[in-house]
Amino acid sequence: MASFIGLGNHVYIADLEGACNSGMQSNAFVESQILSGRIKYGLAVGTDVAQAPEGDPLEYACGSGAGAFLLGRDDLVATIEDTAAYSSLTLDFWRRDGIHVPSHFGRTTVEAYIKHVIGAIEGLLMKHPEVSLQDFDYITFHQPSGYMPMKTCKTLAQDKIPILDNPELEDRIRLTPQFIEERIRPWLKVLDTGNTYAAATLVATCDILDHAKPGEDVLAVSYGSGAYTIATWLHVEEAITRKRGRTPTVQDYLNRRRDISLHTYRRLMRFKQHSIRSKLEMPRIVATIEPYNGHTLTFTLCNGCHRVFYPPRDRCLEYDCKGPVEQRTIPRNARLLSIDKPTVREQFVPTFDLLKEGKVLIVDAFASELVPGMELESVMRRLDDEGKAGLIIYGPVYRPIFRTKALIKEAEAKAVTAKVLAT
Ligand SMILES: [Zn+2]
Repeated sequence: MASFIGLGNHVYIADLEGACNSGMQSNAFVESQILSGRIKYGLAVGTDVAQAPEGDPLEYACGSGAGAFLLGRDDLVATIEDTAAYSSLTLDFWRRDGIHVPSHFGRTTVEAYIKHVIGAIEGLLMKHPEVSLQDFDYITFHQPSGYMPMKTCKTLAQDKIPILDNPELEDRIRLTPQFIEERIRPWLKVLDTGNTYAAATLVATCDILDHAKPGEDVLAVSYGSGAYTIATWLHVEEAITRKRGRTPTVQDYLNRRRDISLHTYRRLMRFKQHSIRSKLEMPRIVATIEPYNGHTLTFTLCNGCHRVFYPPRDRCLEYDCKGPVEQRTIPRNARLLSIDKPTVREQFVPTFDLLKEGKVLIVDAFASELVPGMELESVMRRLDDEGKAGLIIYGPVYRPIFRTKALIKEAEAKAVTAKVLAT
C-alpha cells in the first residue's frame, strides 16, 4: 500500500490484529503518534474479507470492504475530540490454527457486543460530564449485522437500563426511538455491504462524513471479539465542504454493486478454490493498453525464477536466484487498446509470461463491457500463488476507471480555472 500511494520505504507500517476492532485501533495508534509529535501524517486502514463455510449462519452476512482515514494536524475535515476504550477477556469467537472459518457462541457474542459498546460510551460520558448521548448528530455502532446495533439501541431506549456499570449515567445515555430512527438507523451500511468486519466502523463513519455539516458531532463505536471497543468522538470542521468530491462517496461505491445469481456465486467460490474447470468457466481478461497520463508504476520481473515483484526490487527476493531482474514501467491510468480472445493457454500461463509480453490483466468487469479507448485505472490484486504453502504474489492489474475519476475531474477543473485566470 505504501508503495502504491508513493510513500517509499521510510514509513512506519503496522499490521494490527484486534478482530473487527483493529480498524479503529489503527486510527487510535496513528492519532497517538501524531499527538506525540513523532509523525505529521498517518493513514489508518480497516480492511477485511469475511470467511464462512457454505450454509453456515455466518455466510449470509459475509461481506468484504475497506475504509481509511488520513490523519494529520492541519486543514481537517473533522477533529478527533476524544476516544474511550472498554475491554475484557471474552472467549466467545475464535479460530484455531489451521481451521479456515471461525466458531462462535451465538447469543454470547450478542451479549458481549452490547456490554462492550455501552461500556465504551459510558467511559466517554464519564470523561465529559457535560455531554449526553443524544447530543450527537450521528451515531454508528460496529455493524456485523443490522440486528446487533439495533438491539443495542433497544437496550438504551429502556426506562431502566440494566446493563450499565455506572447507573448514574442512565439519563445521559438513554436514547429515544425517534433519535434512533433519525440518527443511527440511516448509517446501517451493513444492509448494503454485508459484514465487513474491521472495515465496518470506518465505512459507516465515511458515509456519515459524506453527509455531515460543519459543527456537527459524530460518535463511532467499534467492536472486536475478544473483546474490545473504542468510542471515537469526531467534531466536523469547515473544510469538509471544500474537500467533498475529492474521493468517491460510500454511496458511489455501493452503486457499483452488482447482484449475482446463486449459480454465479458458487462458481466464484469454486474459482477461489482454484478448480481447473472454473478457470475455464471464468476466464481472466488479458488486454493491451496505452498510457493515459504521465503517472507510472514500476514492477520487477525476475527472469530466473519467473516471479513478478511489486513494489520493484533491485535483485530477486530469493537469495540464490541469479535473475537477471528487469524493471517494467506501466501507466497508473491507461486506455484500453484491445482485449485478447480468451485462449486456453492464457488461462493457465503464469502472469509473469503475460506481463513479459507487455500484456495486462483486467478485473472488476465483464469482457462484454470493455471497449477500446475506455479509461482504466491500476489496482493491486493477487497475480499468482505458488501452491498451498507457497508465496502469494500481488501486483498491478487494471479496472474500468472509478476511484480516480473524482481526482481527474478536480484536476481538470483546476486547469480550467488556471486558464481563465491566465487570460
Ligand atoms: Zn528470481
